[in-house]
Amino acid sequence: MPEIPELESIRAFFNEQLPGRTIGEVQTRIPPVFRTPAKELRETLPGDRFGEVLRHGKFLLFPLASERVLAINPMLTGRFQYLDPAAKMAAKTCLVADVEGGQQFRYVDDRLMGKVYLVGAKELDAIPNWATNGPDLLDPALTEDAWVAGMKRYRGAIKGILTKAEFVQGIGNAYSDEILWEAQINPYTPKTQLSEEDLRRLHRAALDVMAWATPLVRGRMVKDGKLDYEERRDFMRVHRLGGKPCPRCGTAISEITANQRITSFCRTCQPGGPAMKDSLVPAKP
Ligand SMILES: [Zn+2]
Repeated sequence: MPEIPELESIRAFFNEQLPGRTIGEVQTRIPPVFRTPAKELRETLPGDRFGEVLRHGKFLLFPLASERVLAINPMLTGRFQYLDPAAKMAAKTCLVADVEGGQQFRYVDDRLMGKVYLVGAKELDAIPNWATNGPDLLDPALTEDAWVAGMKRYRGAIKGILTKAEFVQGIGNAYSDEILWEAQINPYTPKTQLSEEDLRRLHRAALDVMAWATPLVRGRMVKDGKLDYEERRDFMRVHRLGGKPCPRCGTAISEITANQRITSFCRTCQPGGPAMKDSLVPAKP
């Protein structure tokens, strides 16, 4: 699932390519992702012009000269491409737009869970949950004090809160593990057991992890001026590295699978939390 580092990298790439360029022919190939009628996209996008690409939480926003915004939430498996029109079309390519200059913008989504909207620039609130979601992690208004204050109404395991869009947007399962490792906080610790200093350290860790990961992601997704995004998170320090040594202390990293989510952490660096057995079991013979 793309999180802030992936989306920021894609945004930076598109900002070198798209602003000022006109949209040519548009194809809507696989319907379930279109939350605005596909016909409207096909008929009204051609001739419109890209502005500066923005990001809000897990949405990439493509503001257009017509004062509308193409807003895409890639959810679990959505990905973006910017390629020669002759490049092989991935099976689950949903949206294709020719772009002035000869390249093609493509949105591919293997599980078709992403959401594509075309709304007026002042109508983003019409997108479900837009208005009720919390601030973006990188929003300057989300200061350390605001972070601590925003946490007040939540209880339960800290990882669950970190990944709750209603509290903060942009953090998903993978980077929440990295953030908690960085802050040396156990993912299952109830928030009520964390001190204010813990919460402040967690905020700093969240920003540090995003700043650390973004250039690493960028280097892995852009090649020869082409964007062909695949999730390559081989730089991670704990997430999905169960059994491997913790880069800080050498303890074997623990991995717990619950509710179809994998949580990885170091029991030495991130002590506490309820007693939970590792899910890493030897493969059946
Ligand atoms: Zn450790």
